Amino acid sequence: MANGTVFLVADGMGGHRGGEVASQLAVGHFEEVASVPSADDLAGQIEAANALIRTRAADDPALFGMGTTIVALAVLHTDGDVMELACANVGDSRLYRLHGDHFTQLTFDHSLVAELTRAGQLTEEEAARHPQRNVLTRALGVDSEVAVDRWVFPAVAGQRYMLCSDGLVNEVSDEAIESALRSIENPSSVADELVHMANDAGGRDNVTVLVVDVVETAECDPEETPN
Ligand code: CA
Repeated sequence: MANGTVFLVADGMGGHRGGEVASQLAVGHFEEVASVPSADDLAGQIEAANALIRTRAADDPALFGMGTTIVALAVLHTDGDVMELACANVGDSRLYRLHGDHFTQLTFDHSLVAELTRAGQLTEEEAARHPQRNVLTRALGVDSEVAVDRWVFPAVAGQRYMLCSDGLVNEVSDEAIESALRSIENPSSVADELVHMANDAGGRDNVTVLVVDVVETAECDPEETPN
């Protein structure tokens, strides 16, 4: 987990090709980003990806209406001893954290059913079965302005983070996800297993899962002090 690393999941929408192009534009944009000093900078890069998607869609009528969700976890460049992480998201792709006894969804979904659930107009169960549960209230590519949620928190050794598209959480319960995250040690093996679980459960949507472990929180000293 090096300083400046950005982990992200982008889940495209708007026709098969358009969705793919939009999510790839977002991922490709972040491959060019060398440094993420703050959560605002991370959000700014997501706004830049939004502009990129809109420009591309304006150039090609076949891509009209394409968009993508995004959830990003960045290891901030900081001078201090504490390694800080920033998260930013738009849409219904999620970030979860497993830490000790706690398994927590850190992001809020920008979807119609999530907004209605927060307003107390739907229960979680009603939201999970709602015919309009795929309707997003925010996505990249839709408007020239996009509101990006962002925040910063300290990395603590032993934490495990999971980024995923809605294709996972629509098929697999949080309990089953938590149990897999606790029982499989290797991060890429557990990500593969979660994709299998979603596909076995019906797999009506493409599924993307990324698992990131915080192994240590201090930068390695390049010159080890001899004992
Ligand atoms: Ca999806």
